[in-house]
Parts: sequence; structure tokens; C-alpha cells
Amino acid sequence: MKSSQEIKAMRTALLAWYKREGRTLPWRIRPEDRAGGVVADPYKIWLSEIMCQQTTTTAAGEYWHKFLRAWPTVQDLAAAPRDAILTAWAGLGYYARARNLHKCAGMVCADYGGVFPDNEAELLKLPGIGPYSAAAIASICYNEATNVVDGNVERVISRIFRVQTPMPKAKPEIRGLAAGLADPKHPGDYAQALMDLGAHICKPKNPKCSDCPWQGACGAYKSGTMADYPKRKAKTARPVRYGAVFYIEDSGHIWLRQRPDKGLLGGMMELPGTDWTDAKPDIDTWLAKAPIKRNWQQVEGEVKHVFTHFTLYLTVFKAQASADNFEINANLAKLDDFALPSLMHKAINHVTQQ
Ligand code: SF4
Repeated sequence: MKSSQEIKAMRTALLAWYKREGRTLPWRIRPEDRAGGVVADPYKIWLSEIMCQQTTTTAAGEYWHKFLRAWPTVQDLAAAPRDAILTAWAGLGYYARARNLHKCAGMVCADYGGVFPDNEAELLKLPGIGPYSAAAIASICYNEATNVVDGNVERVISRIFRVQTPMPKAKPEIRGLAAGLADPKHPGDYAQALMDLGAHICKPKNPKCSDCPWQGACGAYKSGTMADYPKRKAKTARPVRYGAVFYIEDSGHIWLRQRPDKGLLGGMMELPGTDWTDAKPDIDTWLAKAPIKRNWQQVEGEVKHVFTHFTLYLTVFKAQASADNFEINANLAKLDDFALPSLMHKAINHVTQQ
């Protein structure tokens, strides 16, 4: 445990470091902006938080600008067709987040008069806003003294206190320790400072301890055991699944269909395909699932895609057919008009780049 004096010194050191070294991000209100009376726009912060859960801040910045150009306000986003949002989101992955963006915007307009609620508890009631996002939005936009803890912050705290419990069991313990450090006077700046520290200084590999404002308070640094934290259980192998897709072409156009709303990649576009199974079936079993009878040619190799909980190997079959048969007719030169997940881009490239 840290004494109140140590905690105070840690807060002061972190905020001073953040003022000097904190990142400038398109959505960020820096301490000097805040001092000048600039307030954060919850719509913009919400978009950035949801996007940053999917990708790096640099890539998120591109999507963030794209979304704000298309839908400058939460009302615009709520009124947009859901497919347009899925299409704009394509490439970020985990499409439930995009569907929830639309739902959440709708609920903010319908139930909260178009204004995001100003506290963590109420934000948590909105679709797609989990504990981390609710705490981040409440602290950054409304200066509520929340406890903002993501994977980066967990790493920092586990190193500072040398938390011995392995993840994910250690999460409540780490949350408690993080809450003890959080600065109730500057919650928004403190939360963003800690995010920056976790993302750029206290990195998973080779942390930059010599640049760290918390070096003097860090148990792992003092014992030279930074790489041992957070403690992890021995890894179990990621399961493997198998499936097939059918690439059906007619003069530069291909057959697409929309996935069901529920489940992985819900609502996204795809090449027609089979279910994904734990065991690899024989080719005839797959071909029996083809949407049309054809003389199928198997494309050499497989498409590998790693999801969070399993690795998928897709076999691709190709054939020609008249576009009159296509469920959704997609021009190969205009695939950006369709909400295609990265997996399907890979499968299409697997054919076109052979
Ligand atoms: Fe992380 Fe090193 Fe700072 Fe400790 S001293 S918090 S290990 S960067």
C-alpha cells in the first residue's frame, strides 16, 4: 500500500509529465485547453473511445474523422442507415460495436434528448458502453471522479504494486489499487495521463522506465521484474475452425450476401459460404452447401484469420455464373461500398491475387 503522501506525489508527477509529454489526439482536450474553458464533446469522445478499443490511436483517428464528416452530431448518426455505419466501420472488426454505435445514438436521441448522460452510472445503461468507456467519458467530459481501467492501466498498476494474482483473476484487486491512486481533483486529465503512460511508456515489452514519472514508486522497476507483470496463467492453445466460401464471378462482379444480425460479423456482407466447424469436413460436404450447382474449382491454399477465441481456416471455391443469380451483386472495383469484414477481403484477394 502507498501512504497518502506517496499517492499525492504520484498524482503530481503523473499530471506534470502529462502536461509536458501527453499525446495530442484529434479528440483530446489537453490541460491547457481545459484551463482555457474548452469542454470535451461527449459525442466525439464516445466515438473515439469505442474506436480506440478496436485499433491504434492513429488508425482510430482516420475513422473518427470519417465518421464526423459523415455524421457530425449524434442526431445525424442516429438517423443514418445502419448499413452505412457498418460500411464506414469496415476494417475495424468486431462489428457488434458498429451496430451498438447506431443503437446507442438512437437511444441518446430518444431517451436523453440528444445529450449524452453526464454520469458513469447512466452512461453504463447505453448499448455498447461498458465500464471502461463509461468511466472514461464521465471523467473526460464531465470531470466525474471515476476509476478508468483498461488493459494498459492494468499492466501499469500490476507493475507498480507487483500484483501476484494472475490475470484475469487479478482484475478486481487491480481496480481497487487503481481507485486508490485516482486523482479526484483532476479526473479527466489523470485518466488520460494514465492511458498515455500505459500506451507509450509502460509498454508490454521493453517499458521505458527511464522516462516514467512513476519510476520511484514502481515495485517491479525496483526489483527489475517488469517483464513478470501482469502475472498470467499458462496459455491454452487457441481452437481451430474450418469453413468454405464460394467466389462466384460474372464479368468483374461477384455474389455477396448479408450475414444474419446475430452472431459473429453480424449484419456484415460476405461471400456465400458454409458453417464453420471444429473438424474439417470433406470437400463434397462443403460443395453440397454451395448456393448454386457449378463445376467448382478449389483455389490453392487457405485463408487464415485469427479471431479472439479461435483461428479460422477458409477454403475458397470459385466458379462463373450469371449475375442474374446473385443475391447481392457487387462490382469488384467498388467493394468499399459494401460492409465487408477483413476476413472477406482476404478471401476475395486470395482469388484475385492468385
Ligand atoms: Fe512501468 Fe517501468 Fe514505469 Fe514501472 S517504472 S510503471 S514498469 S514504465
